[in-house]
Amino acid sequence: MLADSFNRRFSYLRLSLTSLCNFRCQYCLPNGNVFLAGCKSPLTQDEIVNLLVAFAELGIVKVRLTGGEPALRSDLIDLIRTVSQIDGIKKTALTTNGFRLKRDVFDYRQAGLNCINLSVDSLNRKRFAQITGQDRFCELMDGLEKALALDWEVKINTVLLKGINDDELEAFLDFAKSNSVGLRFIELMPTKDNPRFFAEHHFDLRGLRNRLLANGWTARANTADSGPAENFVHSNFRGTVGLIRPYSTDFCGSCNRLRVSSVGELKLCLFGEKNYSLRSLLQAPSQKEELQETICRMLRLKAPAHQLHEGIYETRNFATIGG
Ligand code: SAM
Ligand code: SF4
Repeated sequence: MLADSFNRRFSYLRLSLTSLCNFRCQYCLPNGNVFLAGCKSPLTQDEIVNLLVAFAELGIVKVRLTGGEPALRSDLIDLIRTVSQIDGIKKTALTTNGFRLKRDVFDYRQAGLNCINLSVDSLNRKRFAQITGQDRFCELMDGLEKALALDWEVKINTVLLKGINDDELEAFLDFAKSNSVGLRFIELMPTKDNPRFFAEHHFDLRGLRNRLLANGWTARANTADSGPAENFVHSNFRGTVGLIRPYSTDFCGSCNRLRVSSVGELKLCLFGEKNYSLRSLLQAPSQKEELQETICRMLRLKAPAHQLHEGIYETRNFATIGG
């Protein structure tokens, strides 16, 4: 199995399918996409298969397709089918802003998707539009309703923002009372593109953790493959709550994931800008061994922890890396 110099084991790969997005979330791409001269085209299906076959043999069992907005790829459903049929991949997941959910959710499921994470930062239509730059809340909720009617894992990702949506906690929890959904509250993380927004709206989730515990929620024991989220259950709620707190002490110690950007760069840390391009090794199945050796060599360079506490981070925004 893939392991780094600190004995962390990696079974989960997040693969970005495009760095483009049609939303303008205030903390991520407030001005929408910036097109850079010389922008490379995203990995093709053949390149993705070569990449994932190599990773699956190295012990990756879960692949999350992300972006930018992965549903902007016209071949997304085909890709889900292809990825879910690769030997060794036991779980195929998708993180999406949901703009195609209402239309495509059955096709995602039929193609083999096991888990869908939908980003919903507000349950209020006007506020949703204010945060994302898109007045598509109602359409998104229709898609979510369809997703919840299927037999699979549905999660909602919510970035809690001080002064913007931190008053909606109860509304989100209410939703989890009657729906079998995994709420994931994500603490706002700093990027090169959002320093002012971060300074104004960072909301520390430590208080929420204490509040959950005081209100009858219990922390579920983490398993070896849980990753950095801390999960909570409550006997009166059908849904669960997960907290993602990048400043918590265990965040890096429990890291179980690697990232590959839409143009084939291996990213060892969400907050680091060091990229190692694997693309030249994705051109033919015969390059698999060299690709695997390169991945294992690169993994030894993974640092023990991020440097957020020292105010050091290099990622421009999460649309380029997939979150
Ligand atoms: N476009 C898709 C979406 O929004 O679900 C997939 C990509 S998006 C980068 C993945 C996740 O990262 C989303 O849930 C988003 O809210 C989260 N995200 C983006 N920027 C973030 C930041 N600065 N801090 C915390 N979460 C962030
Ligand atoms: Fe797009 Fe997702 Fe970033 Fe929002 S968080 S701008 S939907 S990539």
